[in-house]
Order: sequence, then C-alpha cells, then structure tokens
Amino acid sequence: MASLAAAQVQEVRSITRIERIGAHSHIRGLGLDDALEPRAISQGMVGQKMARKAAGVILQMIREGKIAGRAVLLAGQPGTGKTAIAMGLAQALGPDTPFTSMAGSEIYSLEMSKTEALTQSIRKSIGIRIKEESEIIEGEVVEVMVERSAGGGGARSGRLTLKTTDMETNYDMGTKMIDSLLKEKVQAGDVITIDKATGKINKLGRSFARARDYDATGQQARFVQCPEGELQKRKEVVHTVTLHEVDVINSRTHGFLALFSGDTGEIKSEIREQINSKVAEWREEGKAEMIPGVLFIDEAHMLDIECFSFLNRALESETAPVVIMATNRGITRIRGTNYKSPHGIPLDLLDRMIIVPTTPYSHQELREILNIRCEEEDCQMSADALTVLTRVATETSLRYAIQLITTASLVAKRRKASEVSMEDVKKVYSLFLDEHRSEQFLKEYQDEFMFNDGGGDAAQMM
Ligand code: ATP
Repeated sequence: MASLAAAQVQEVRSITRIERIGAHSHIRGLGLDDALEPRAISQGMVGQKMARKAAGVILQMIREGKIAGRAVLLAGQPGTGKTAIAMGLAQALGPDTPFTSMAGSEIYSLEMSKTEALTQSIRKSIGIRIKEESEIIEGEVVEVMVERSAGGGGARSGRLTLKTTDMETNYDMGTKMIDSLLKEKVQAGDVITIDKATGKINKLGRSFARARDYDATGQQARFVQCPEGELQKRKEVVHTVTLHEVDVINSRTHGFLALFSGDTGEIKSEIREQINSKVAEWREEGKAEMIPGVLFIDEAHMLDIECFSFLNRALESETAPVVIMATNRGITRIRGTNYKSPHGIPLDLLDRMIIVPTTPYSHQELREILNIRCEEEDCQMSADALTVLTRVATETSLRYAIQLITTASLVAKRRKASEVSMEDVKKVYSLFLDEHRSEQFLKEYQDEFMFNDGGGDAAQMM
C-alpha cells in the first residue's frame, strides 16, 4: 500500500517536471531600448525592426492609457513574426495589464453566440484596479498557543493574545495565520502587526517590557516602543480584476467557481449593465480605476461580417480595450458576404485601424531565429547543420525549419550524439515533407487518393 502511494507520488512528480516549450516561449519582450528603438537581437526577438518599433509606440500609448478603443492590424506573410510581436508586446506590458489572446475561429462555438464570445474576450481585456482599506493591528504578544486539532491530519488551530496598550484581545487563528506566525518565530514579548485581511503577521522586534532579553550573540535584541492605541494603522490594499471576472462572480447562475473551470456560458446583459454602473460609481468615488488592456485576435480573417460590425461598434465604447489583429491574407472574401476586401476585413473597420506590415526575413535573421530556438529547446547544433537548416528555412518556411529542430535533436539523441549534425538535419528533411513537397507528392499520386477533385489549386480549397 505504502509503496503504491510512493509510486503515485513519483508519477505525479515526473509529470510536473515536464516543461513544455511553446512556439513563442523564446520571446521575452519586444527587445527595445529605453528610447523604444529596436535592438538587433534582444529578448528573443530578431530583425523585423519597423514592426517592432511600431509595436513599441503602441506599447507606450497603452501604458499612458491614450489609445483605448483603437485597433491595430499586423499584416504580413505567414511566419513573419506577427504572433511573436503580439506576444512580445504582452510580455512588455507586464502582468498588471490584461492581455487576452484568441484566434478568429474560436468564436464559432456551439456553446455561445459569436457576439457573446467577443464580448467576453473584450471584458477579459479590461482590468479594474479596486482600492480597499485593510486593518493592520499592531501590538505586543502576550501569549501564543498552537495545537493540532483532535482529528489529526495536520490541521491546526491556535489562539493569539495581543496587547495594545491597556487592552488584551484574543484572536482565533486559521492555518494561514499560524503558518505566518511560525515562519516569523513569534513568541511572547514580540511586537507584531497582523493584517486582518490576509492573516499575515510581521515581526517588528521585541517590546521594552522585556528589556533584559539578549539574542544568541550576546547583543541586546532590537526593541521597539510598545505602541499606543488599539488600531495603529490603516493600509490600502489594491486588487486588480478583469471586468469579465466581476461579471462571472456576480452572475448567480455561474458563481465564481466557473472562473476556474472556464465554463462560464452566456452572461445576461442585465448583469453586465449592473456591473457597468457599479464600476462607474466606484470610479466616481475614487475607489476604482480602469486599466484598458489588449485583445489580440490572431487569424482575424476568420471573423465574419457580423463580428466585424460588432467590433466596430464595441470599439467606440469608452471602456474598450486596444484590439490588435493579425492576418496573413491578401485581398480575399469577407466571411459571410460575397465581397472581397484587403485582408478579408471590411473597409469601414480597416479605415479605423493602424496597419503595421511585417516583411520576410533575411538569411542572416533566419539563422539567428533558428539559433535562438535551438537554445530554447536545449539543442546543441553544429555550425554546418545550422547552415543547412537556414537554407531549408529560406527555401521552405521558417515554421517548418523550427519543427525540424526538435525532430533532428531526437534523431541525434538516438545515435547518442550530443550535437545535431548536418546528416541529422538532412535525415529529418527527407522524413518529413514541407508544404511544397507535400503538394508535389499529392499531385503525383492524386489518382490513388479518395474523393480526389484533381487538377484544382490546393490553395483555393482553404
Ligand atoms: P502566421 O501568419 O502563419 O500566423 P506569424 O506571422 O504569426 O505567422 P509567427 O507564428 O509569429 O508568425 O512566427 C513563426 C515562428 O517564428 C514562431 O515560433 C515565432 O516565435 C518565430 N519568430 C518569428 N519572428 C521572430 C522574430 N522576429 N524573432 C524571433 N522569433 C521569431
């Protein structure tokens, strides 16, 4: 039995140790200097200087809260770093600015309408900073008692008696407070502060009442004046939540647990209206502040005419986030209509967008990106293997070449080599087809496949 439990623990541990490496995990920012000029290679970013510089200007405007309700379009060929730049922008904004990322196709769900999905994404991208006052009590510890509860199982309960001038108060302590107390090694005679909101205990020093105490080194311990009054200080606590979180918490049919499962379903418009007026009230009273964040929609050409017109209107709201879209399409049909337009986006929406183009990489830039990806995937690659891989990237695509790093590294491992050689790269190149060779293959053997339409252009099928 015990060994089974041990085996299970082992298993859980080994699963948590696996670190997955995402396509953009090497991107740690936009790689700009203080003057927002792009550095050649920095924070995992290489080249694409104009677009990065433009993203830097947008970053500055978002930070200054200037461009709520604007839309930016990153437009360029596949694999030119549009998503990478959006991710870099998210990193540069930091965790306090909400950043929501979605693909255009995500709105086609059976669970909620398209406009509801967009509304939720928009509200996930707007933060509110709520200020609250918390009580901090300062006093001298008279007695501490911590005991394990009768049922065992490590649960503890405890009581703390705190003296503030002439008054003694007993506090029943929960596990959080006990942990904090044990961590600070609090004993009678210590002067502490308790944050009643969080249960956090802070040790300030020893009280004058115990002036004879010396610490282990023989030095007189640090003393503080035992404080006057009962409530010594009031501190401000700031919570940052998104509008969507407030909606879910207040939606009676879901409850806050839905936030963890992600299964929030549709939220009634009355609730949103109530929340909006409550937030407006808090803002007026100076209790809350809006933080317009960023909504990133990748593959924006997958949205349809209804979504575009909804977004167009939503952007006019005072509380709209900055919407950044990315697309690799040229002039194409707007979904839901028979009209064509640049990037498949209606002209009236395009007209209000700032368009940032991305351009194909030079040979040297591709080499640098592949090199960074090798480091990210912990893959040692010989110089000539990297040269071959760069050529593959130039002739096929950057994404295909990045895929080959992982596979080539596996091949190298199988022959117990510590470094990926040119042969390994050549081997995986022959094993896995890129898009162009795959198409050639289909053309050659099309008669042997089922439901073959024959002759048509593959690209048109998409
Ligand atoms: P698509 O139009 O096909 O969606 P995209 O323009 O969004 O393509 P990305 O997915 O950003 O392209 O880029 C492909 C890969 O190359 C990703 O792994 C990305 O992190 C990496 N990459 C692209 N540009 C850069 C860059 N300038 N610096 C570092 N890595 C980059």
